[in-house]
Amino acid sequence: MSIEPIPHRPNLTPDRAIAPRLFQALHEMSFDGVGITREAYGPKETAAHALVRAEAEALGLAIRTDHAGNMYLTLKGADPALPQLVIGSHLDSVRTGGNYDGAAGVLAGLSVVAGLARAGFQPQRDVTVMLIRSEEAGSWFPVSYVGSRAALGRLPAEALDVPRMDDGRTLAEHMEEEGFDPDSVRAGQPALTPAEVAAFIELHIEQGPLLDEAEIPLGIVTGIPGSRRYRAARVLGEYNHSGATPRRLRRDAAIALAELAYRLDAEWARLEAEGHALVCTFCVLATAPEAGFTLIPGEAHFQLDMRSENRASVDLLHDALIRLVGEIEQSRGVRFDLGPESGSAASAMDPAIQQELGQAAEAAGVPYRRMLSGGGHDTAAFAQAGIPACLLFVRNQYGSHNPREAMRMEDFDAACDVISRWVLARAG
Ligand SMILES: [Zn+2]
Repeated sequence: MSIEPIPHRPNLTPDRAIAPRLFQALHEMSFDGVGITREAYGPKETAAHALVRAEAEALGLAIRTDHAGNMYLTLKGADPALPQLVIGSHLDSVRTGGNYDGAAGVLAGLSVVAGLARAGFQPQRDVTVMLIRSEEAGSWFPVSYVGSRAALGRLPAEALDVPRMDDGRTLAEHMEEEGFDPDSVRAGQPALTPAEVAAFIELHIEQGPLLDEAEIPLGIVTGIPGSRRYRAARVLGEYNHSGATPRRLRRDAAIALAELAYRLDAEWARLEAEGHALVCTFCVLATAPEAGFTLIPGEAHFQLDMRSENRASVDLLHDALIRLVGEIEQSRGVRFDLGPESGSAASAMDPAIQQELGQAAEAAGVPYRRMLSGGGHDTAAFAQAGIPACLLFVRNQYGSHNPREAMRMEDFDAACDVISRWVLARAG
């Protein structure tokens, strides 16, 4: 599958005008006063889809929307029997996030396909830009990769009954309200089968500082980590008077949780020193609303997120969690209720596509490095479905999921050049 050499076709370059215009329009339609908010299966996400759809109509692309509201904008190839190339990402955002997380990948695909369409070029196989619904599980529905897994017929039926975190209404209700068909999603009907897709790629802003620090514009991702998570864990102790209760009779939930956090962090450090690559975060550590001055906390809440590209590493940390929970329950007279566990499997990126994208970057003169992804992305859902898939990072300043997220257009253009060369090599 390796491609050599990357063909140089100076007339077939990405459309450089379309993305700045659409980034601006997306910003205007979704600025919430502080940052960008495009809620999953809400009016702003739908408006963003409509904005991009209008561009696709003007370009004469074939347009299809599936049962879960994912949109496919296709430059038709000469041979409809050949499996297509898909370039996709999401258009929802976290609450008060930035304008580039997700949108950069959609607009990169559109820029590449628009360049080919405007030149009147017909590829051998279909090239599709996919606008994926509802990726930002941290802000809306606590479910990973909703749109991509629904498209592939791989979203578990029970995910449709999960309530949105702020309004309590289910994913199915929101999906239906935006005009889509949760029953078909629940039935596991695929809108896209692995046999129809030769390769999937996603461009995304890097969510950490590594590329910017190294002064390298592009990252080719080797793997996406899996996770083990507890979103609604509790420690149950006993409320009591802080002046009148001696130490030996206390069942202090807050101190028990603090001990767990401190000791699990030490276990993480130990595993890291042994060569394991993983991350461990107590995203929430809090006493309950009943807590107050002169009270020993009788209840504490936490959220825990453990991730690694290697399942075995995250499993070792999970073993330590269970051991520590038992020890602290014994020593402090509290009870831990971890609540439901959620998570996702780690996904390796396709080695052949990594190599092809590296060759395309070299041919385009774009410096790159191979790297792991810290966060999860829709690409993982494609990889888990058995579709050859790869993720690209573009250098970004100030991280992501915040209003300051940034990206230089020259870096975005360089990434589009690489994708365009790869598309021509694979679909030309
Ligand atoms: Zn994203």
